[in-house]
Amino acid sequence: MVALQLRRRGIVDARVLQAMSDVPREQFVPVAATPSAYDDAPLGIGQGQTISQPYIVARMIEAARLSPAARVLEIGTGSGYSAAVTARVAAHVVSVERHGALANAAAGRLAALGISNVEIHIADGTLGWPAGAPYDAIIATAGGPRIPDAWIEQLAPGGALIMPLGALHSQQTLVRLVREADGRLTRDDLGQVMFVPLIGEQGWEDPRAGNMSPAARAFADAAIPLPDIDAPDFADWIDRFGDCRVVLLGESSHGTSEFYRARARATQRLIERHGFTIVAVEADWPDAASIDRYVRQRPPPSGTRASGGIEAFAPFSRFPTWMWRNQEVAAFVQWLRSFNAQRPAPDQAGFFGLDLYSMKASMASVLAYLDRIDPAAAAEARQRYACLDPWRQQPAVYGRAVLSGAYSACEDAVIAQLQSLLAQRIDYGSHGFEDYFDAAQNARLVASAEQYYRLMYYGAAASWNLRDTHMFDVLTRLLDAHGQHAKAVVWAHNSHIGNAAATAMGTERQELNIGQLCRERFGTRAALIGQDTYAGTVAAASDWDGPMEVKRVLPARTDSYGFVAHEAGVPRAFVDLRGNVASASAALRAALMTPRQERFIGVIYRPETELVSHYARAVLPEQFDGWIWFEETSAVTPLPGDQTPGMGMPETWPFGL
Ligand code: SAH
Repeated sequence: MVALQLRRRGIVDARVLQAMSDVPREQFVPVAATPSAYDDAPLGIGQGQTISQPYIVARMIEAARLSPAARVLEIGTGSGYSAAVTARVAAHVVSVERHGALANAAAGRLAALGISNVEIHIADGTLGWPAGAPYDAIIATAGGPRIPDAWIEQLAPGGALIMPLGALHSQQTLVRLVREADGRLTRDDLGQVMFVPLIGEQGWEDPRAGNMSPAARAFADAAIPLPDIDAPDFADWIDRFGDCRVVLLGESSHGTSEFYRARARATQRLIERHGFTIVAVEADWPDAASIDRYVRQRPPPSGTRASGGIEAFAPFSRFPTWMWRNQEVAAFVQWLRSFNAQRPAPDQAGFFGLDLYSMKASMASVLAYLDRIDPAAAAEARQRYACLDPWRQQPAVYGRAVLSGAYSACEDAVIAQLQSLLAQRIDYGSHGFEDYFDAAQNARLVASAEQYYRLMYYGAAASWNLRDTHMFDVLTRLLDAHGQHAKAVVWAHNSHIGNAAATAMGTERQELNIGQLCRERFGTRAALIGQDTYAGTVAAASDWDGPMEVKRVLPARTDSYGFVAHEAGVPRAFVDLRGNVASASAALRAALMTPRQERFIGVIYRPETELVSHYARAVLPEQFDGWIWFEETSAVTPLPGDQTPGMGMPETWPFGL
């Protein structure tokens, strides 16, 4: 590059040539463009911006005639490349970039290379950076219609200003303006160039600014644009949460393909690179256990299907089956199995269920376990669980029956059963801890579910809170069981994960959730991450127990957070909402603190009554630490099979895939 592109074209300044050969240009281009890093051309760096052609970088720095003591102002940090080269020739570089995401990425690169004499600011560079003035040189790497007054003011006597001047989106003239010792300005032209536009108060007008709200502007600045979900670097953003004990990954619907796939990619990275070994999802314990046995290649518990009158159990056969029986989950399950196959048991990652809707299957699991290990205890357990027998098919009716006084509650029976199982921990555990843990979790689930169905009739908040407390309890037990340093990923709906205290759930309805409980327990070592979309399709039913339909998702309401992201115009992005990580995210956090509507689609979607059925007011930056945005999304692809138990539902899932 130095010989062919620079010397041959007339770059002669030895210090500039040395700097150009010292700075590793490949570190400043996107991974996919690494092979082209030394091409004789500019390259895309995201946000519609480019890293300049090497020759132009050298030409501009040479034209600035920098002394080793020079202080330089650069406008347009971009990738940070020209700042890095300049920093090797001059004493100090102040670089201003209007795109927060680019500035943050550039700052990271410079830090990684140990370059400490560059300060980067996110701001409109057409106003210069007065705090650091005067400058011995000002180099603009974006082209404007005129020379901003602010730059001339901030130029030291004897200093040079290098700038592409001229029409938008076509060739400009590279000009050098020198402030002579006597104060006069002289100008000479250095040739034709083509730069991206200088956008700002004293540059070109932002083509989108006219119809973009300040919040959308802040979103666009802070957004880290994401490549395609399948791209190798899609989940790079999750690395910042790698030290967390729990990373909770949400979704704004239970039927959106992108949410599942993005979550799977992030989870893979947490497992592969950051030592996470627990994937705990919003599914019932026994159903998830069948996946866990598959991914860790553990044998199914013997006798499960033949345990005295308890009917066979088909995992994921209750409504809504598509929530877990879909191709997106299946692909992750296959990946997890092959990942685990190459690792010793303690390093394998397991798949677990946090939810409590499987009272019947969990009772069956407890009984099957005791049948194998302690038949006398099994007989006793059968008697206790018989209390719930009339309600096994329709547990929701149980609560009403108890409340009406016509039937007595089974609370004592299910708790006694749990306690007698826990009392045998040492004895039963000696036959295999994992099976014992599984049985104990099922017994806990039965106890929680019994209470849940009774509380349902006292109001939504009480049963919701019990459910999320149960989920949190399962999560902490999993962490405990996996040792002191265990780390978990949680997959659940945004409504469970986004801190309830920051939404109408907490402020108006006294509801808590697993995200809030994790925040309280783990502080900043819990990462609460939401996902949302503007429009597309979703897999959902119109009514409870109804068939799955692929429904069109309405565009997000104009008073919603989804609309802010839509306005910002990034198709896929990650935003860090913690405010303490970078100035762009602090600005975004501030801009989003005004409450807005947020859309919640569960397994039912009713666009006809969307506002009342699916929107709630929230304060996004209080709810989440990070947010994944997809402008357009599509429905998950369900696996074939009937959702009614015993109707030919393939019991091979996931084994038969
Ligand atoms: N020097 C960069 C190339 C930058 S391309 C490199 O070596 O990679 C021009 C950059 O100028 C873009 O990143 C663009 O976002 C930025 N820019 C445009 N107008 C700006 C303004 N008013 N203030 C600061 N940066 C601006």
